[in-house]
Amino acid sequence: MKSLAILGSTGSIGQSSLDVVASMPDRFRVVALAAGRSIEKLAEQAARFRPRLIAIDRAEDVSRLERLLPAGLGCRVVPGREGLDEAARHPDADTVVGGLVGALGLRSAYAAVRAGKRLALANKEPLVVAGELILAEARRSGAELVPVDSEHSAIHQALRAGRPGEAARLVLTASGGPFRERRLDTFDAITVEDALAHPTWKMGPKITIDSATMMNKGLEVIEAHFLFGLPGERIDAVIHPQSLIHSFVEFVDGSLVAQLAKNDMKFPIVYALSYPERHPNDFGRLDLVALSRLDFFELDPRRYPAIALARQALAAGGAMPAVLNASNEIAVAAFLEGKISFPDIVDVVSGTMESIGHHSAPGSLDEAEEADRAARQAAGDLVRRRGAAVAAR
Ligand code: MG
Repeated sequence: MKSLAILGSTGSIGQSSLDVVASMPDRFRVVALAAGRSIEKLAEQAARFRPRLIAIDRAEDVSRLERLLPAGLGCRVVPGREGLDEAARHPDADTVVGGLVGALGLRSAYAAVRAGKRLALANKEPLVVAGELILAEARRSGAELVPVDSEHSAIHQALRAGRPGEAARLVLTASGGPFRERRLDTFDAITVEDALAHPTWKMGPKITIDSATMMNKGLEVIEAHFLFGLPGERIDAVIHPQSLIHSFVEFVDGSLVAQLAKNDMKFPIVYALSYPERHPNDFGRLDLVALSRLDFFELDPRRYPAIALARQALAAGGAMPAVLNASNEIAVAAFLEGKISFPDIVDVVSGTMESIGHHSAPGSLDEAEEADRAARQAAGDLVRRRGAAVAAR
């Protein structure tokens, strides 16, 4: 029986993780839940999964949540950073699911690694913002990092077909997002609704926009570099609209090993929780005859400039991946609020990278957060300038 702390339990990854737990009650139990402000949903989850600790965002929600909890549950509710930190290193949890959106997950991922937990990491930001720090801490504590991101889960699985050092190249697959065939000269007119209509995966709004710009794939190149130790030049991406091959590893002998499964995050989640075992499940099976074909296309750099920016950030090293990530978060939020246009997202990121310039690698979480803050501020300034231009049109 594995004991889990689920960070971001009311989000998309958190809910899928709880679906996995519910379908395998003799294998997994929940000892801690952490979420933001969805108090009713949290109360339902707590009644069903009976954790010992719930971490929530705001102190003013504690009594409201406590009133909604079943009598006799004996569960503590702790607000703020303290609660999140406590959930991430809960003494009864052996595995932590990191499903928090954005840089918010950084401290808690670090805390889980520091406490020697297995970290089933769904959000890419901790590795993008502070990859070297997290890996160094994992080496020290013996913590295991097992990716939940579907592409990285596929690579993790495919790498088991060879020995360390035998992988020549990683190939990430990308759906191409909703604008794979849209005319480039109409990108200025893309609405929030258009960008949120992802063709194959159902995800939260931030990552769905990142899939439309393909910044998601750029962040995944950086994530893959930290997880698997290959340089950026040996991490490629290819468009695969069906999103059924989740990624490939090409070995030194020319063999390509792929992983396929239905498009459902429960597959990478249960793999990250059960590795090195595999658990039987009822999550559905691919029907090869029904799908009949798998397509692949080259990534057009004019359509998806975000990937080149991410590669540039990885090559620059130091704090640049953190700057890329933070400015992208600001730009995506501004787009979702209607303040800037779709093409402005990538422009804001590249403008922020230029204005901040090179910084050495953060030597501590505080320094990583400082780089994050500086980039947010610079990106916010650019958004205000762009926003004024959009309003004037
Ligand atoms: Mg992914």
